[in-house]
Amino acid sequence: MTDVTSNTAARAVAALPFRERLTRIVMHPVTLTVIVLGLLAAPAVMGNANVQILAFALVSIIFAQSLFVLTGLAGQISLGHAAFFGIGAYGSALLTKSLGLSLLVSVPGAAVAGALVAFLLSFPAGRVREVYLAMMTLGFGQIFFEVAREWTSLTGGVGGFSGIPSAGLRTLSVLGMKLEEGNFFRVLVIATVCVLLVVRNLSQSRFGRALCALHHSEFAAGSVGIARGSSRQFAYAVSGALAGLAGAFYAHLVGYIGPDSFGVSRSIDVLVVSIVGGMLSSAGQVVSALFFAFLPQRLQGFAEYQYIVYGVILAFSLIVLPKGVGGLLFSPPRFVRPGVLREVGDRSEDIATQAASQGGESLSVRDVTMRFGGLTALEKVSLEIKAGHITALVGPNGSGKSTLVNVISGIYRPTEGSVVLDGRDVTGMADYQMAAQGVVRTFQDPRLIPHFTVRENLMLGAHRSLRYGWIDAALSLPRARSAERRELARCNAVLTLLELDSLADVVVESLPYGHRRMAELGRMLLAGPRILMLDEPAAGLTEVEMARLSAVVMRLKAMGLSVLLIEHHMDFLANLVDDVVVLDSGHIIYRGDMEGMRKDPEVIAAYLGDEVTGHA
Ligand code: ADP
Ligand code: MG
Repeated sequence: MTDVTSNTAARAVAALPFRERLTRIVMHPVTLTVIVLGLLAAPAVMGNANVQILAFALVSIIFAQSLFVLTGLAGQISLGHAAFFGIGAYGSALLTKSLGLSLLVSVPGAAVAGALVAFLLSFPAGRVREVYLAMMTLGFGQIFFEVAREWTSLTGGVGGFSGIPSAGLRTLSVLGMKLEEGNFFRVLVIATVCVLLVVRNLSQSRFGRALCALHHSEFAAGSVGIARGSSRQFAYAVSGALAGLAGAFYAHLVGYIGPDSFGVSRSIDVLVVSIVGGMLSSAGQVVSALFFAFLPQRLQGFAEYQYIVYGVILAFSLIVLPKGVGGLLFSPPRFVRPGVLREVGDRSEDIATQAASQGGESLSVRDVTMRFGGLTALEKVSLEIKAGHITALVGPNGSGKSTLVNVISGIYRPTEGSVVLDGRDVTGMADYQMAAQGVVRTFQDPRLIPHFTVRENLMLGAHRSLRYGWIDAALSLPRARSAERRELARCNAVLTLLELDSLADVVVESLPYGHRRMAELGRMLLAGPRILMLDEPAAGLTEVEMARLSAVVMRLKAMGLSVLLIEHHMDFLANLVDDVVVLDSGHIIYRGDMEGMRKDPEVIAAYLGDEVTGHA
């Protein structure tokens, strides 16, 4: 294992040179300040035409951030994003021109309108996925396009909406002062910087991590108490707000909008910018937005071939740079704030005190039957996970052990029977609600977020303890930072307990199986468990790791937690467990202690015969 650790470390160092260095240079506060000051000075030193193109690039950067949140973080595809852009554009145009409102109201208003519509779209969109989601969003974009074209009295129809207060036409004023082109550009620069900061802050908060979790494994997200619906609605709302904001700036930049500005090609454009930049790289998207803004100028000679060139660039980037330009130039994004992490350092806060004060609870399963079509996976199963006990659940493969854990944890609703937690009937509660009650489980196949580090995966477990709101997260307010510090300190304690310290900042997809199992266990420990269910936690572990696991399980019991342990290794179980329940083909054939189980003829016939020949 030490070999693996040092190997990984060596590989990490070998990978350091170019990307890490470039990232450090580009992301350095001094560099960023120079870039922003340079942009603010641009209207004074650059030609008007170039400033105009830069302005389009900034709009495109804001628009791309909208997909960063929805597709990059939350994994939701959208082929109709031009609609939100259009809602922002028409919204701000109407508010300023028709209602005579100030830009200070109309631009935020456009963002709110985008957020509201996206929030509403999230309800039907949450019910479908992949190709169907792509088709639904495409349809949504098409509906918006038709509405913009046909609702002539509101949008001007195909004739378009002209005379929008714009800097170029010198018709834009804020607080009674004329906003000429240069200053409008400066406002846009500041808005873009704010958007990039907010998106970065969100993605390095419990919100960003929760969206990534949902993206990669809904069950993993549910197991730590992340509610699917509300998280997804949040992603849509933020994404709609950013697209609306971009659209509003666009409207005031050009002064004239028509339905053709918001057709499917606009939705594809922003996707191309995001994909070529890297779905999870804001920095890459900045580079790609600049590239695509200035490209048409370079291609002027053969404008007809512009979309062919785009197509070739997209295809090329998908094949050669699956992580986009951002993946090539910059180090991968992180999902815990580096600054907060530095503040915490090695400080650790023991999880024991918290767990002990919550105490173990008992959970009983009463006459549970679970059928899948014609197959009965569990039949009239009753068992109790007693407070402060370790209960082993054993039985041959396919006997229904994982199914029982899935029923208790709320993934399946039992066909018949009930699950009772401390006297309350919790049958049919959703998995994230069960997790919220302290009923937490690991999976037979570890479900981690592959591009997260061990620490980031563990921090997912802390999702429910981190109670700060989205504004705290977006602005990285002290409330969010202190909560993150507290949980990072608890995370350090768990890392030490599981001997994962040296791997804390290694991305899990590069780790061997045993470490991943331990990381999943760690995530569960941070979720404030009272009843733990471990589905074959020792499978694939080395002897050393098994010994550590058994020490950890003993420690959990000493904290007063209740544990349900599914395991095949009898030697592993022998010194650990208080009670044993044996399942065979969905029926309980034995319950009692380990000694009795080993001698039970039915158990020997159904299960232990296998164990002796090493087949189980
Ligand atoms: P174990 O964990 O004891 O190896 P499982 O609980 O995974 O067994 O499976 C018990 C039985 O239920 C198996 O026959 C399995 O094929 C079936 N089963 C489990 N989940 C499903 C499902 N979602 N749909 C259909 N059959 C299932
Ligand atoms: Mg199983």
